[in-house]
Amino acid sequence: MRYRLLGRTGLSVSVLSFGASSLGGVFHDIDEQQGVQAVHKAIELGINFIDVSPYYGLTKAETVLGRALAGIPRNQYFLATKCGRYGPNMRDFDFSATRVSRSVDESLARLGVEYLDLIQIHDIEFGNIKQIAEETLPALAAIRDSGKARFVGITGLTLRVFTELLQSVAPGTVDTILSYCHFALNDASLLSIVPKMQEWEVGVINASPLGMGLLSMRGPPAWHPAPDEVKRCCQIAAEHCRLKGASLEKLAIQFAIREPRITTTLVGTADPKNIERNVAWSNEPIDDLLLAEVMNILEPVHNTTWVQGRIENN
Ligand code: NAD
Repeated sequence: MRYRLLGRTGLSVSVLSFGASSLGGVFHDIDEQQGVQAVHKAIELGINFIDVSPYYGLTKAETVLGRALAGIPRNQYFLATKCGRYGPNMRDFDFSATRVSRSVDESLARLGVEYLDLIQIHDIEFGNIKQIAEETLPALAAIRDSGKARFVGITGLTLRVFTELLQSVAPGTVDTILSYCHFALNDASLLSIVPKMQEWEVGVINASPLGMGLLSMRGPPAWHPAPDEVKRCCQIAAEHCRLKGASLEKLAIQFAIREPRITTTLVGTADPKNIERNVAWSNEPIDDLLLAEVMNILEPVHNTTWVQGRIENN
């Protein structure tokens, strides 16, 4: 496993990391015991960064993760969770200082830990950016000062709001961004904001290298928000790989982890065998010819995304 520094935090994070939304049964029903084993396998193979949220499985992912982490020395992993999002609808967001402060305590209890390495505001494009700057971030700064969390981050789909928010707050207020579905074979738009993040020493976490299932042989779940044309092209790419006896998942993971300016890539799975596969793939060289062919298939939908959150944040 290779490791890279996460912005100014000093944390040395594995290039492949564990996305625990899978433990909440976000993609399909899971066997809890298998999910626990997946976490253990990840740590055993050198994955040292785990990301979760109270939203995933409506607290189930944090609860299952807490069970998995019980008994594992706290210095063997970095733990990130989130606050502010508690369900799928607009009414399920609450970025108020009171709610996010209570949320951190609830997460600590479910996860069974004394502190978080990273507390992130979940999906900021659903919020009022002024409120996040003036109320949510100061509340999280107080949490950081109290020792309940070491660093503060923001997450979301819309890249523009990351830079907009960071420009409006003092340097050092935000330590990391977590972007998803924007550094994968079909969409590499995250690179457009990476130079600014480097200038500001903000760590960059990439999530969903399989595009939340788009870039998989199984295909995306029914709730996937991507336009149909994106889904169609990704399935053509999957079929192309299948005919060549190759794996689109393997290519997608290798592509995501090779950009040195992106510290880590979170992959979600509750299956220990997938963890073994993903780690093995991360140590193998990428097939450049297959990569060129797949990029060519995906070219018509390159960087095509979808609208999410408040209209003014898109
Ligand atoms: P992903 O792109 O990692 O895809 C997950 C899907 O890929 C699952 O169905 C899983 O079973 C499958 N998969 C994983 N390894 C596989 C393999 N070797 N072979 C076949 N299938 C495989 O998407 P994700 O889970 O959404 O993203 C990863 C993590 O990133 C999440 O768990 C979460 O922690 C984080 N994330 C955060 C946000 C946010 O903060 N807003 C959004 C998306 C993701």
